[in-house]
Amino acid sequence: MSDNLPPLREVVALHGLNAKKSLGQNFLFDLNLTGKIARAAGPLEEAIVLEIGPGPGGLTRALLAQGAKKVIAVERDERCLAALEEIASAYPGRLEIFPGDALALDYPAFVAARADGGPIRICANLPYNIGTQLLTTWLTLDPWPPFYDRLVLMFQREVAQRIVATPRERADYGRLGVLANWRCATRILFDVPPSAFTPPPKITSSVVELRPRPAPIACEVKALETLTLAAFGQRRKMLRQALKSLPGTSDPAPLLQEAGIEPTRRAEEIDIEGFCALARAFSRKGAY
Ligand code: SAM
Repeated sequence: MSDNLPPLREVVALHGLNAKKSLGQNFLFDLNLTGKIARAAGPLEEAIVLEIGPGPGGLTRALLAQGAKKVIAVERDERCLAALEEIASAYPGRLEIFPGDALALDYPAFVAARADGGPIRICANLPYNIGTQLLTTWLTLDPWPPFYDRLVLMFQREVAQRIVATPRERADYGRLGVLANWRCATRILFDVPPSAFTPPPKITSSVVELRPRPAPIACEVKALETLTLAAFGQRRKMLRQALKSLPGTSDPAPLLQEAGIEPTRRAEEIDIEGFCALARAFSRKGAY
């Protein structure tokens, strides 16, 4: 890399950045891999990249080296800030560091205050303990399409499989798959073995791409969330039983009939169109 920054292992030793499990810290030091993730988020020349959890800055450096116009990095661990400041100095005016909790951000407002035109992308090796919560936040923004044009994110492979799942992959198909594929085109780009991380986690990871659909099937996000919570909350039960847990719905039969869904079906058999039809019927009832 041409940034003259010291190798990441040196940075970590110098700043005493021993990985903390409580912060989901599994660091990437392999430049080939961080470069591959950054390229997956490209082209970056016009883009502002929001990175959650830069840690010592391996992926941050790759995004900047790949030519990102600007990287906005949100990091909760104050021990990492000095290392990130060194990267900011090597790339003047192109790295903004925000100490704080990524779960606490109002994303549209945060980005609107910092963006100066050009596409906005989110690229991150997410802390595993908050990955699905962050993704759900980004998927449930209103209005849609959202402020970002693409998400390129690392998850545990098992979560990645749930994100891309359709009713064909029954065991993995659930709330996350419905929400993600309703609003985005999703795919797993590549797997990353435990040995690529320091310290190595127990499981394989995967990088997932989500591209917002310009016009997802019509339905209200809140209704869809409530509905999938009830339906998959008792995924082995028939919907005529499982949907009784919906607010104000002692008898789900009329709802199912309105959506054209057999009451004996189970959640894992219903595709996104079916869930959206149910959500529209549920919205009309106005019970949530
Ligand atoms: N990007 C680095 C890499 O690839 O080597 C580190 C990735 S590590 C899996 C996750 C990072 O997220 C850590 O640096 C951790 O401190 C940070 N983090 C954990 N919880 C966070 C939160 N709530 N808000 C912001 N950053 C957080």
